[in-house]
Amino acid sequence: MGLLNFDGEPLSWEETKKYASHVREHGITQFLNIYEKLKNRHGDILKWGDEVEYSLLHFDHENRKVQLVLRGEKICEKLMEKEENDPDSCDSLWRKEYARYMIEGTPGKPYGGLMAHFNMVEANMALRRKEVEEHLHENERIASLTVFPRLGCDSFTLPEHKIEGPESNPVSRSLFYPDGAITSHPRFSLLTRNIRERRGKKVAINVPIFKDVNTPSPFQETFPNPEANAASKPDHIYMDCMGFGMGNSCLQLTFQACNIDEARKLYDELATVCPLMLALSAASPIFRGYLADIDVRWNVISASVDCRTDEERGLKPLKNDRFVIRKSRYDSIDSYLSRGTNLCNDLNLEVDEGVKKRLEDAGIDETLAQHIAHLWIRDPMTLFSKKINLDDANESDHFENLQSTNWQSMRFKPPPPKSSIGWRVEFRVCEAQLTDFENAAFVVFIVLLTRVILTYKLEFLMPISMVDENMQEAHKNDAARKSEFWFRRNVQTNDSPQCCSCLFNNSCNLSDIKDEMYQKMSLDTIVNGKPDVFPGFIPLIKTYLNNVEVDIATRCSITEYLNLISKRASGEYLTTAQWMRDFVLSHNEYKKDSVVTDGITYDLLWKCDQIAKGEVEDTKLFCKPKNKSSYSMPPGTRRHNTPKSHMVNGNSNGV
Ligand code: GLU
Ligand code: MG
Repeated sequence: MGLLNFDGEPLSWEETKKYASHVREHGITQFLNIYEKLKNRHGDILKWGDEVEYSLLHFDHENRKVQLVLRGEKICEKLMEKEENDPDSCDSLWRKEYARYMIEGTPGKPYGGLMAHFNMVEANMALRRKEVEEHLHENERIASLTVFPRLGCDSFTLPEHKIEGPESNPVSRSLFYPDGAITSHPRFSLLTRNIRERRGKKVAINVPIFKDVNTPSPFQETFPNPEANAASKPDHIYMDCMGFGMGNSCLQLTFQACNIDEARKLYDELATVCPLMLALSAASPIFRGYLADIDVRWNVISASVDCRTDEERGLKPLKNDRFVIRKSRYDSIDSYLSRGTNLCNDLNLEVDEGVKKRLEDAGIDETLAQHIAHLWIRDPMTLFSKKINLDDANESDHFENLQSTNWQSMRFKPPPPKSSIGWRVEFRVCEAQLTDFENAAFVVFIVLLTRVILTYKLEFLMPISMVDENMQEAHKNDAARKSEFWFRRNVQTNDSPQCCSCLFNNSCNLSDIKDEMYQKMSLDTIVNGKPDVFPGFIPLIKTYLNNVEVDIATRCSITEYLNLISKRASGEYLTTAQWMRDFVLSHNEYKKDSVVTDGITYDLLWKCDQIAKGEVEDTKLFCKPKNKSSYSMPPGTRRHNTPKSHMVNGNSNGV
């Protein structure tokens, strides 16, 4: 959700609503124009890139307190100057994010076809960290931290913002998270306000609390505010605004495919991998100063931007709204995209029938048409006065408006008009890891997995309801070690995009064959393999690597990365979430009451900072090889003519 430009005055929700049909209609026209022009575009090389969101911390050593520093936005502006002056020479690109303490960085150029690029990822991440460090004041640190443990607690920002009640924060009306922490670009506060106004009340986020021996039972906070008391659930940590979700950080990857069909295939296959990578990258066991009984942020962000009305959530009969909608606009994907996957698309998809018909009449196949028509059930959440009447042949803002506020686990991205970028997909679930080494390991692992899927024509699809079940499973405390996930028993059904031939026989009932086709497996089995049960992602990747040429340095790095992923999956290394949880539980200030105090947070994040810097190593989390190479841009990537937005990651429209 990094962002670039802004055009005209922001419109209120009432005004935006009036233009909803206009935006939807022209958005489809813009999509059709792009599709018509580029549907046969072929031969783009496989490119990929990572995107890491960072937070800025300030350590007050005297008072043993750590706070989020609201200088990310300003530092980002400084870092972006280089790109404005000479985009071709940038090794990194920077974007503002939702909160003023955040900043988002990507490599300056996408990585491409060379195996040696796998050895650039970590060095580029290190370089990015260094670039930010040059702008930090004393006692400030940059951290790739998914959730600040005391987000929303008293004085968690620097400068501090006092909150007296919802009136202190006219934008979000939060009791905990100051409007002053939201990045000043109007898009972010507009989204926050409009989501709340569309919903008709504040968002309500309730995370199950981790019940320790001294945690009150039931755990029920009382707030000086009736709305909060009504919205907060017993035994849950209550949060009340967008910042609690969009103010979190993640690691994302974008792939450019060689054509639209390959992008659709990657979208589908990777969608099944999302819950697994969410569980494996888990890094969020603490919310608003309490230990939670979940390990990941996903459902929190989902609830933090849930703009559905009571009618849409099925709480009241439909009267003013168009649909009952099962999910928030931030959630896992609802349908596969490749042709022939319809029977695996077993969710009852809400679609805008008019949009679907329009797309089908224009020659788009049913599967793609229904994907877009499903995204189009949403209203645009922001609109700017100079961006209402557009040139649909050359602009795509209305399309992007709805597309980029459908924050799903995967995103299918058509090429922007007038650019050299091809069809892309975005992998959006991973939690940010503390170190560049770990972040690089996740990136390299997922990219290699895509190579294996495409090279060996593997097939991971399962009914999408099972992927949803896996997404929820991935949230559980210690899911990486304890949970089992649905996965296909046989992934080597070459050239068969359908779930199985049986599924195409209408007399065959999915539940009859479910056990035959799919089984629940541990992450260890799925990632590392188990004889006679499942081949394992890492053995498949190793087979692939044995058949391609890789220089020794790159091979060494890849081996270390695969080792980390393998051991996280086997449970030998802890996920970041489990490691943090252990840190809190064994801290001498911890009173076994689920409370993560300022002092504990200070010690925890100081340790995290030392680990990120390589000053200390924690062998429960990982063992990092010494002497990693420093970054230089691969020669093959310099000559591309780079547009002024992220080239592969290219999301110029923010949240
Ligand atoms: N910060 C969000 C997350 O943690 C992602 C926002 C984005 O799409 O850039 O998932
Ligand atoms: Mg982002």
